[in-house]
Amino acid sequence: MSAPRGFDLFVQAPPQLGNQYRDDPFLRSWLRRKLPAQVLGEIEPELAAMGELAGGELYRLQLQDRLNEPRLVQWDPWGNRIDRIELTPLWQKVAPVAARSGLIAIAYERLHGRWSRVHQFALAYLFHPSSDLYTCPLAMTDGAARTLTVAAHPQLRDRAVAHLTSRDPAQAWTSGQWMTEAIGGSDVGASLTRAQCDANGVWRLFGKKWFTSAITSQMALTLARPEDNGPGGSGLAMFYVETHDTAGRPNNIRIERLKDKLGTRKVPTAELLLDGTPAELIGEPRNGTRNIEPMLVITRTWNSVTSVAFMRRALALARSYAYERQAFGAALGELPLHVDTLAGLEAQTRAAFLLAFELVELLGRQEAGELDDAQRALLRLLTPIAKLLTAKQAVAVVSEAIEAFGGAGYIEDTGLPVLLRDTQVLPIWEGTTNVLALDALLRGEAGAGLAALAGWIETSAAAINDTTLLELNGTAAAALAHVRQWLTQTDEATLLQAGARRVAMTIGRAWQLALLVEHAHWSLQTDNDRSGIAAAARFAMTPVDLLVNIPPGDSRLLLS
Ligand SMILES: Cc1cc2nc3c(=O)[nH]c(=O)nc-3n(C[C@H](O)[C@H](O)[C@H](O)COP(=O)(O)OP(=O)(O)OC[C@H]3O[C@@H](n4cnc5c(N)ncnc54)[C@H](O)[C@@H]3O)c2cc1C
Repeated sequence: MSAPRGFDLFVQAPPQLGNQYRDDPFLRSWLRRKLPAQVLGEIEPELAAMGELAGGELYRLQLQDRLNEPRLVQWDPWGNRIDRIELTPLWQKVAPVAARSGLIAIAYERLHGRWSRVHQFALAYLFHPSSDLYTCPLAMTDGAARTLTVAAHPQLRDRAVAHLTSRDPAQAWTSGQWMTEAIGGSDVGASLTRAQCDANGVWRLFGKKWFTSAITSQMALTLARPEDNGPGGSGLAMFYVETHDTAGRPNNIRIERLKDKLGTRKVPTAELLLDGTPAELIGEPRNGTRNIEPMLVITRTWNSVTSVAFMRRALALARSYAYERQAFGAALGELPLHVDTLAGLEAQTRAAFLLAFELVELLGRQEAGELDDAQRALLRLLTPIAKLLTAKQAVAVVSEAIEAFGGAGYIEDTGLPVLLRDTQVLPIWEGTTNVLALDALLRGEAGAGLAALAGWIETSAAAINDTTLLELNGTAAAALAHVRQWLTQTDEATLLQAGARRVAMTIGRAWQLALLVEHAHWSLQTDNDRSGIAAAARFAMTPVDLLVNIPPGDSRLLLS
């Protein structure tokens, strides 16, 4: 249509996405550094295909599907309670993609041994931002498969794990993780759901689960308190629940309502009433919070990878837009301050990527039985640290990337605001920042992990010959030494708790800096690429060591 006479109309070109694997040189260089050439050669076609799908068909469908949301249908026309969820078109499209691509299966088929987790999570990283958080049920499915592999009796393992890890969309199940109750999500030991065992040895659950995501799953792992057990997490037991009976009716489970959420609106998250739900006890009839931990290790790994994936997507769009949009006679991408702003986001994204994939690599090596005691301590420390830090970085980076679009970033049908709303869940679910910081530090095992980390940073210095990188390695080492000194000298519980977030962030940022230095050294040696040095130097300015002593009394003063 031609413009009305007398008006100069301008129409802005939108940001473009290409193949998300080919357009991600940092991912590709990391994979090239880590993977044996044969493994990379074998998995690269899958990565390129997923990159094409994510940047093409799925991204287009996601934009078209923007206004659709899942719907709870509670009754059929004849008055039967059915509690059926109708999913959005994109979710219906990506579920078989996830199964066929082996987004869960790869980790259990283990064709590439210790590298199987890297293979799986590189695919998940590409898939996630175009999946409308379908990675939420995938994370719990992976967590359940791992937990059942470790803890279930053989018949249950054979029945459920085969479905959870299937590549056949008709056979593939997803799993829920029903822990949070109204009385406590962080303090899950306060849970009120009861478990009764009848004379035939059948357990039945009674209670209300307050947040249950992806409620279309065929099964869930959950926690409930056997009747004679005492309070706290040790009085809870872990149970396996199938959501429907063999006739397809809800298994004494009522969906009370779907949550009306800030983001993740494509994910059906429900309040559930368990009213005599048949369940199978997994393992001992106690210590549920401890026994469900294998699930949390996996879901926190997914959280870390999806955090980075959102950062990369926001930045990919912002970079594209920087060359579509002009201001003051130049493309935004030519304006020094805009370039400076995006470069800061790139440095944070690389740092977060390296930490998340360090976790992925260690997990894969653990499953291959390769870790010694020190590396196991490192993995235990890294799991909460990577989750809490990458989630916070994701919110900050995605928020800044939205601003890089100016007003367009605030307009719903650009598809940009949803990125920020969806990212905001990452610091909340799977353990909030504070709760994970305490988890990382107060278990009494942090010392071994910190010693292993300090040892690795020190030894990696020996290989570095670039003076800037050596200095940056020293900054990471100094921040970590400060943490270790602070932890040894601080024995007052209130002070330890109050400082836990600053300590956890400092550990994570020192770790990220050391990983940036390591990758920069390799890039320099292998490709004469100096961008890694720029990323590490930029990251180190933000700053790394956040540890200061703030008396808890001062904090209380501010709130009184
Ligand atoms: C979209 C969405 C989907 C979800 N899906 C699921 C699901 O599928 N399954 C499931 O089980 N749960 C799910 N959750 C719940 C989620 O895991 C919890 O909301 C989360 O763990 C926090 O628990 P809470 O809401 O009870 O907050 P609270 O525990 O009440 O926490 C409130 C605040 O207090 C802080 N806090 C708590 N304890 C401490 C402490 N000791 N020291 C310092 N600060 C503290 C927290 O950091 C937080 O900032 C979901 C949540 C959301 C938002």
